[in-house]
Amino acid sequence: MNKVEVQPYYVFKRFKCNLCDRLEQVEKRLVFWQDGKVIGDLLLCNSCLELLIKIIEGSEEVMEEWIFKGGGKDG
Ligand SMILES: [Zn+2]
Repeated sequence: MNKVEVQPYYVFKRFKCNLCDRLEQVEKRLVFWQDGKVIGDLLLCNSCLELLIKIIEGSEEVMEEWIFKGGGKDG
C-alpha cells in the first residue's frame, strides 16, 4: 500500500520547489512510502504543499498509484 507523509525540517533551507520551480524557503517535505519503504520525496514550497495536502486528504492519505515521469529530460 502506498502512503504519503509530511515531514518537517528542523532547519529551514531554501530549495527550488519541485512543483513550481520557485526558489522558496522549504519547511516540510512530502515523503512517499510503498510497502514500508521510502520510494521518493518532494520538496515543496508552502503553497504547493498546501495544495497537495488537500488533494491527498481528499483521497484519505492513501494513493493508489503515483507515477513519476522519471528523472529524465524536460518534463
Ligand atoms: Zn511550489
